[in-house]
Amino acid sequence: ATPAEMLRDADTAMYKAKTSGKARYVLFDNLLHTDVANRMRLEGDLRRALAEGRLTVAYQPLFDLVTGRITGFEALARWNHPELGAISPATFIPIAEDARLMLPLTDFVLRTACRQLQAWQSRDATFAELTMNVNVSEFDVAHPSLVARVSAALVEAHLKTHHLTLELTENILMARLEAALPTLTELRRLGVGLSVDDFGTGYSSLRHLSKLPVNSLKIDRAFAAEMQRGSNESAVVKGIIVLGHSLGKSIIAEGIETAEQMDQLRDMGCTLGQGFHLARPLTAPDPAMKLLFIA
Ligand code: C2E
Ligand code: MG
Ligand code: MG
Repeated sequence: ATPAEMLRDADTAMYKAKTSGKARYVLFDNLLHTDVANRMRLEGDLRRALAEGRLTVAYQPLFDLVTGRITGFEALARWNHPELGAISPATFIPIAEDARLMLPLTDFVLRTACRQLQAWQSRDATFAELTMNVNVSEFDVAHPSLVARVSAALVEAHLKTHHLTLELTENILMARLEAALPTLTELRRLGVGLSVDDFGTGYSSLRHLSKLPVNSLKIDRAFAAEMQRGSNESAVVKGIIVLGHSLGKSIIAEGIETAEQMDQLRDMGCTLGQGFHLARPLTAPDPAMKLLFIA
């Protein structure tokens, strides 16, 4: 079995073990989302969790779809509430944004992920080119400190700038383009990668796309989910891949959940991918994580 297959098997087993509780969390997340009192309580809890270093980071591997090798990871914030259990980022990221906690949250994920990548890179020469993607919010992009904070995290972890990529959603980019342009340009000048997350669902115009200082596009997972051979969706995906490549950008497909979707994307020329079919987000001491390094 290839490392990817072994990882997948270990992962499937873990997933099965977890699914029973998972539906409950999803329901719970929705309830919390609408309940003001709960939200205020969560805000206080989140502030404390952050201050006390109780958030964690999960890492979802990114794969080269042609060779099957892992090329890097996306860092995803995780919050395991002492009483409520796992709370989804879809719930706590908006709370962090409202509570002005995004900058410390980003710093935590950025620094943790950079240190983790450095630890993996230094294990074996074949891991030296692994990369890390970190999500940033519109608050980060709008704040003049971003370049300094990113540089500090890289220096502290002894990482090369080109091993880090920041992911920004399409909507953030468009809403903040004027203000963010100098910061983004400076990050690219330093060699840090910039990727448009959830690409294809926001309102970026094609005219802007050619001017944006980004080097990669991450096709939103809604496309992978709706893709059937010969469908309109797959024609749109094919178009994004061709357009992106002709603009010199690398293309990553996210949300790949089946072998069929993976094969189809690869046949259309998309060489990088991420999704539950390949690997779920993993936490560092996770037994499945060890399998990554058997290759
Ligand atoms: P995203 O950046 O687009 O991250 C990918 C999300 O898709 C992750 O959800 C991941 O677990 C999920 N995913 C991966 N593969 C599949 C798949 O095959 N199928 C499906 N259905 N989903 C898949 P997660 O971890 O719940 O995060 C949700 C969103 O929360 C992220 O979307 C990102 O926008 C935000 N987020 C997470 N961590 C951070 C963070 O540290 N900072 C910021 N600013 N945002 C974060
Ligand atoms: Mg992302
Ligand atoms: Mg995304």
